[in-house]
Amino acid sequence: MKNIIIGEYESQDIQGQVDKIIRGLGNPDPPLILDDARELLLLDRKFYSSADTSAVSEVVSRLTVAGKQIIKRPMILFDAIRKAKLSALWLPDKKRILLDESQPKLKHRWNEAHEIGHSIIPWHDALHLGDNEYSLNPACHARMEAEANYAAGQLLFLQDRFRTEALDSTVGLNTVKELKVRYGNTLSSTLWRYIEEVGGDTPMVGVISAHPHRPNNDFDPDRPCRHVIQSRGFKRAFSKVSEKILFREIRSYCGMQSGGPLGESDVILKDDNGDKHAYHFESFFNRYDVLTLGRYLHPLSRAVSA
Ligand SMILES: [Zn+2]
Repeated sequence: MKNIIIGEYESQDIQGQVDKIIRGLGNPDPPLILDDARELLLLDRKFYSSADTSAVSEVVSRLTVAGKQIIKRPMILFDAIRKAKLSALWLPDKKRILLDESQPKLKHRWNEAHEIGHSIIPWHDALHLGDNEYSLNPACHARMEAEANYAAGQLLFLQDRFRTEALDSTVGLNTVKELKVRYGNTLSSTLWRYIEEVGGDTPMVGVISAHPHRPNNDFDPDRPCRHVIQSRGFKRAFSKVSEKILFREIRSYCGMQSGGPLGESDVILKDDNGDKHAYHFESFFNRYDVLTLGRYLHPLSRAVSA
């Protein structure tokens, strides 16, 4: 699955909203304390679990997710959440973020920032939940999710602060790992942010996938990559590079190791005109996912016909 790059107008609006929060917190050093952001925004946070549903014992009569109305009659919210398989939820009228306690702890931070994202994006209030007036189609829902993720990334990586620090360091997975520790976020979300910021208009690609030599039971060879993260420059010139091609290249140099660095290599990719370009790929296994960073090197000189 390839990432969605959100619109220029929307990204500027979201940047403005996040900027207000960061200034409101007095331009803090990383890592951002989410409790402070929530306090500033007067948001309430509650956890729910199948053992303790008290946080979500409200009765709701309508709940729309991805364009489908999943409740028609009043129902306890927890049942609705379970039915829709939601790991987090934003209730605009209550200014409340609900988080699923059973999700891995590492994911709570991202889920919470994602819901804060929905809460600060003005055009999400009417659409996100409850009201069926604007029926969401799946593409529209995917775009809103991308916008909330963009806001989460802007917030958790303190906007320009991350970009400046990332650009000041050598391009590579080691820098991504250092920034992960400094900003207190997951390796995946750090890689994601890194490619968008450092890649920018130059081609750069990231892949989050299974271990090519240690696949899980649910591995699907037709969809081998959980996420392909493209910089704007990559999306513009290398849109025909499929996840299968990327995974094949990754498999060609990765070792069997059960954790840590799996290897690195130069890789040749064709652009949309069919011209060949050299990239440098490196992969790391955090024991859940393999994270790969591909940075652009140079075009390969074309054979000149006389
Ligand atoms: Zn969402």
